[in-house]
Amino acid sequence: MQKHQPIPGFTEITSDAPIAEDSHGARAKCLQRLIRLDMPVPRTLALPFDAVRLIAAGHVPDTAAILARFGDGALVSVRPSSQNGAWGGPGSLLNIGMNDARHGELAAAHGAEAASALYLRFVQNYSTHVARLDPDLFESAGSAKTALHVALRAFEAEMDEPFPQDPAYQLAQVLRSMARAWEGTSARLLRQARGAPADAGLGLVVQRMALGIGRGESGAGVIQLVDSATGAPQITGRYLGQSQGRDAVAEGAEGALYLTRDPRGPSLEERCPELFATLQTFCAACRAQLHEEMQIEFTLEDGALQVLDAVPVARNSRAAVRIAVTLAEDGIITREAALTRIAPRALSELLHHQVDPRGPRDVLARGIAASPGAACGRIVFSSSAAQASAARGEACILVRRETSPEDIRGMHAASGVLTERGGITSHAAVIGRGLGLPCIVGATGLRIDAHGRRLTTSDGRTLDEGAMITLDATCGEVLDGAADLLEPAVDDSFRSLMRWADAVRDIGVRANADTPADARIAREFEAEGIGLCRTEHMFFEDDRLTVMREMIFADTAEDRRAALDRLLPMQRADFTHLFEIMQGTPVCIRLFDPPLHEFLPHGREGLRNLAEALDKPLSEITRRAEALSEFNPMLGMRGVRLGITMPEIYDMQARAIFEATIDASQNGDPVVPEIMIPLVSAKREVELVKARIDAVAAAVRTERGRGFDYRLGVMVETPRAALRAGDIAQHTDFLSFGTNDLTQMTYGLSRDDAGRFMSTYVQAGVYPEDPFQMLDIDGVGELLHIAAERGRAARPGLVLSVCGEHGGNSESIAFCRAAGFDYVSCSPFRVPVARLAGAHLALGDKAG
Ligand code: PEP
Ligand code: MG
Repeated sequence: MQKHQPIPGFTEITSDAPIAEDSHGARAKCLQRLIRLDMPVPRTLALPFDAVRLIAAGHVPDTAAILARFGDGALVSVRPSSQNGAWGGPGSLLNIGMNDARHGELAAAHGAEAASALYLRFVQNYSTHVARLDPDLFESAGSAKTALHVALRAFEAEMDEPFPQDPAYQLAQVLRSMARAWEGTSARLLRQARGAPADAGLGLVVQRMALGIGRGESGAGVIQLVDSATGAPQITGRYLGQSQGRDAVAEGAEGALYLTRDPRGPSLEERCPELFATLQTFCAACRAQLHEEMQIEFTLEDGALQVLDAVPVARNSRAAVRIAVTLAEDGIITREAALTRIAPRALSELLHHQVDPRGPRDVLARGIAASPGAACGRIVFSSSAAQASAARGEACILVRRETSPEDIRGMHAASGVLTERGGITSHAAVIGRGLGLPCIVGATGLRIDAHGRRLTTSDGRTLDEGAMITLDATCGEVLDGAADLLEPAVDDSFRSLMRWADAVRDIGVRANADTPADARIAREFEAEGIGLCRTEHMFFEDDRLTVMREMIFADTAEDRRAALDRLLPMQRADFTHLFEIMQGTPVCIRLFDPPLHEFLPHGREGLRNLAEALDKPLSEITRRAEALSEFNPMLGMRGVRLGITMPEIYDMQARAIFEATIDASQNGDPVVPEIMIPLVSAKREVELVKARIDAVAAAVRTERGRGFDYRLGVMVETPRAALRAGDIAQHTDFLSFGTNDLTQMTYGLSRDDAGRFMSTYVQAGVYPEDPFQMLDIDGVGELLHIAAERGRAARPGLVLSVCGEHGGNSESIAFCRAAGFDYVSCSPFRVPVARLAGAHLALGDKAG
């Protein structure tokens, strides 16, 4: 016989009992609020966190005393009550106290089948959740009576003892098992992933069961006033006669009624209009008084309504935004509260298609979720196949080992991109995010045979070109077949939320935009300018690539200039277009950055075509291509190094920018372009480039007879540039941190290859997170601090920003804001996320 020990603070929930969320949990507190709103809640006792901890540690509460509070023969339920409902917890257990004797009584009162169904449910739940027996043993077909018999026999056979008949013993076991489940490692990890602190407590509530069976109208159901998928007003839920708990909304619940009148079938509104009206007023009261859309769980017992529980309506991100905005518009919560209810990250769900979570999922492979959204399409293995597919009007998914700049057109044509290699800042990832194209990279379990046009998954399944797949790039899963997709939802609620965010945000947000299409999206998402225009992407267009290659193959500076002269009007048109779209907001243009060989064709076929186009012998083309190849191109002839060794390229770009400035300012808002020099590591580089750019500016002013201003800045992407920011800042108006390259160089970690082992590294705790996704505050962050401090000491008022991918990551934005940066710049589709994250930070400061 176990000795009972006193357990602290077992409290009956009444309107004035000392119940608090941080001691008894959110469910207990919510039940008290329902009681205060005069709702008919069955008697409920709340067990606080401390008590549950003691139970988990082996203390046995006086459960007979607890049950005595409910009267003779009462059945009870136990539900979890953590501080925040979103942290989860063990499942509820109903009908505790059920035994052979009660079964007999209930059978006499309500019929054998109903009584057996109730007892069976308890035996099943107790056996699987408390005694932890295999659920399969307790599934059987036939009548409830037969199934009950089988279940009781199965329990006895497995446990070597009959099913426990003592209600106090049953309750003690239930409390112990729920308390222990909360302490388990997987439950702990799961809730921490949802934001719970390591020492989060669990409360439990013990409630008298409202049985939901009886001769008069009896049953159970749930009701809410909004649709969980959209947040739009819509009475939603079901009611099922002679049932309990959430049976009415269980899959395949036969005979469940709609709540409000519905052409599809009978409704509670028709069967019990007054009850239905009461339920509606209860929901409305919750909304007004609990400041939230709640789902109410109710039971009818012989026509008497009982409210068992209320939980915040389950919602996807789209519904969350609409609900929060509507509550604020109705004056129920403040705009600030509405803002803080939406996690910035959740917004990206609204901007892209999503896989409908209700559909089946057959996962073929997993990789890094590099650009969110979902897309279905037929597999293609080359850019040309993607373009052909687009020309036929057929959606396709471009599957590559990794992508290179040559794949840009294929990426434009595809609905999604999947690569075997790569990490969060590899080519496919960066371009995918820029285009808002769902993209999964580093799907290392896949084997891609581009020649054989076949894909093999890690479990040996093969898919040929043309097979239909779906990318769920929000979570990084590749699914077989075409999944159902949910539409993006940039609606009025979203726009209101964004407006409110801007009203409180105090860090600037710009977009990384390379093309007019990107710039339009940047405007659509109300970016305050372009923080990074990667000009090299402009040269991959069909008409330019050949001229670009001519420039690369030029023998002399003279020939190079001739090719650049042909590129000049194209670049000028690009910039004019960008300036016009951005309507006078700042546009920061980065001068040419990548190694030249990226523009060369790969493979013999490509080289032969080029030889033809340039009218040169194949041997010469091959020799030149080989001469351009580097052992370590990311650390080689790129960025400002190219600008210094082949200054004509930057001259042409500067001229295009200045001429476009004059053209665009003539027709619209005045433009003050910002020109940014990439991959700087020494002050002298800046001096040399600045001298030439100033000279081009002076020449254009004279030729066109018009004045204009511009700002020159440096992209800090090498550790040395960060350390020498004091020198460098003397010649620049701004520093923009290219944290993709800076992270790569600080760690000595290839951004294109890190995907191969990043998950192992993160799982082993070597890195807390992928540093290409979340700024490494300790290392890269220290460099940013040093550079900011030295730069601003040398030049007060120096504008500071981040334009690497971290600019769209909430945690990294917090760092930038705390370090006094002026703005962040990120892919256009991440602009709303950054705007909301900025607002959260400002509100956090305000709240202290
Ligand atoms: C960077 O390095 O952070 C950056 C923005 O430039 P890119 O990604 O084009 O190298
Ligand atoms: Mg870079």
